Amino acid sequence: MSMYSENKKRGRPRKNLPESAAPQPATVKRGRGRPRKSAIAEKAENISKLTYESVNVWDSTLPKDEIMSFSEGYKAFLDKAKTEREFIKESIKVAEENGFKNLDALGETKLNPGDKVYRVVKSKLMLLSVIGKKPVREGTRIVGAHVDCPRIDIKQNPLYESTEMVFLKTHYYGGIKKYQWVAIPLALHGVIVKADGSVVEVNIGEDENDPVFTITDLLPHLAKDQYEKKLNEAFQGEHMNALIGSQPLGNKEEKDRFKKNILALLNRKYGIVEEDLISSELELVPAFKARDVGIDRSMVGAYGQDDRVCAYPALMSVMKITNPEYTTICYLTDKEEIGSVGNTGAESRALENYIADLCAFTTDGQYNDRLMRAALDNSKMLSADVNAAYDPNYEGTHDKLNAGYLGKGVAILKFSGSRGKSGASDAHAEYLGEIRKLFNENNIPWHITELGAVDKGGGGTIAMMIANLGVDVIDVGVPVLSMHSPFEIASKADIYSVYKGYCVFLNS
Ligand code: MN
Ligand code: MN
Repeated sequence: MSMYSENKKRGRPRKNLPESAAPQPATVKRGRGRPRKSAIAEKAENISKLTYESVNVWDSTLPKDEIMSFSEGYKAFLDKAKTEREFIKESIKVAEENGFKNLDALGETKLNPGDKVYRVVKSKLMLLSVIGKKPVREGTRIVGAHVDCPRIDIKQNPLYESTEMVFLKTHYYGGIKKYQWVAIPLALHGVIVKADGSVVEVNIGEDENDPVFTITDLLPHLAKDQYEKKLNEAFQGEHMNALIGSQPLGNKEEKDRFKKNILALLNRKYGIVEEDLISSELELVPAFKARDVGIDRSMVGAYGQDDRVCAYPALMSVMKITNPEYTTICYLTDKEEIGSVGNTGAESRALENYIADLCAFTTDGQYNDRLMRAALDNSKMLSADVNAAYDPNYEGTHDKLNAGYLGKGVAILKFSGSRGKSGASDAHAEYLGEIRKLFNENNIPWHITELGAVDKGGGGTIAMMIANLGVDVIDVGVPVLSMHSPFEIASKADIYSVYKGYCVFLNS
């Protein structure tokens, strides 16, 4: 039973009411000399209101059919958006379909309440807004997520042949457990910038008829030495080379004829030569599609749910907003998995620049820097990122009282960081209280979480960078199993819960 819906429906505990004033259940039987059952039940009920207990979303008032249908759209989106560039490209399509206009194509413009605009930075970062009724300087409501995911990047000079096989050299991106990325089908996504500056888009391995690639693993029969090694030493990053060919071109006297065959095929398909690969961004990602998990189909299994399981609901929530009080911002960032660096990461000035423009365009150009500073100080944000769900197969990694759980709805994380909260983003109790109240009043199932047991590790999100700007920020996202693996698991109930939570927040 939800503490949220109960508090709302029944108001304050009735312990001071005379028994007769409380409605009696129809089945009450009265025994002489003993207290009436209804009174006992009432007492128990009042006591239960003293305790905090999270709820399973499937027991909540959220409609099951909506939970299920929301995930259909999510899975389809995941299959189209496996890289940060693809996520932004698909988001632009969704935004345009919903009447959002490219702010940078509007020039010096006047924005009015209800107007819908977006900005894209370097094809990898995006900001979307519905302009609010209140002036931007009074603050905004931001839901911020990241659209990059752990993956295997291709090096700049990647191609070589060895023992009549052809490989691509790689450098992994983000925190991966390397052993999870060998012996699975991989697809190649990205862009190649040719000598003349033109850009070729690459996508091989997603169509059923496409070939795929793989990083090989050692057979168990010969893995005696490998077994003796520590897990983080048994798989070496420099040896994670992707197999991409084994057929020669020309006659036996030709040097590197296996590699040359691959280059000839790439030249035929994309018009590129080897040097073009130097100016490329190519990413190997799992080649399989998002799937339902479980006999009951209650979960989604897919690559890249960190953080698209929050980025997609964030995008969808801003699509649903009309005439908000405060200007809403959906902030989709890049490079979170390697520290939010660069001009497409959350450490960049992208958000400040964007809010500055919103201030200018809503005030007939009466802009000064203090407007933007005030807007940031008055803004509130949900940092929409995943949470480490408790996994009963790995006891001891979580404090069960403060863990994120699959199916318990929105995971609220007060602080991140590690070892004595070092490097944490720590939301103020007042702000956490505000979010808790908002979710309770709107029947959004939520539970309080932390990233794991004390001194077991840790991590962070984009929350800290935005908090540094003066914004009140708290992490609010979806608990995920097998995080950073090629096949991450999330509950459909949680995905829908965060979507509803983000909608409520943007409208607050
Ligand atoms: Mn994340
Ligand atoms: Mn991550």
